[in-house]
Amino acid sequence: MGLATRTARKNVTETIYTCDWCGKEIPFDYFHPRPCVICQRYACGAHRKAWHHKDDGSDWPVWHCAECWAIGKPFRVAIEVHEGAIADQREGWHEEARKGAKEQDNGV
Ligand SMILES: [Zn+2]
Ligand SMILES: [Zn+2]
Repeated sequence: MGLATRTARKNVTETIYTCDWCGKEIPFDYFHPRPCVICQRYACGAHRKAWHHKDDGSDWPVWHCAECWAIGKPFRVAIEVHEGAIADQREGWHEEARKGAKEQDNGV
């Protein structure tokens, strides 16, 4: 008779996230949980407490699980040293180039 409604029979699937440490389902509202950037595992709120992220104010901080973070310690030390060396080289290059440009201006 005219217009009616009925409940559709549909197979509705949804994505759920479970903690890779305890197996608990990880609830989320709008933003999907973020995995560890290296091992791609997900953690519930309790297990995520041991995770590390650099709080650089971005909306999508990079997260590391406790294990990956711990393994990375000697690497992070080396990375810091090399990054410092790279910055020094860049500075030296720019300084040299500025000097060169100035010498050309002076007709040397
Ligand atoms: Zn958990
Ligand atoms: Zn990890």
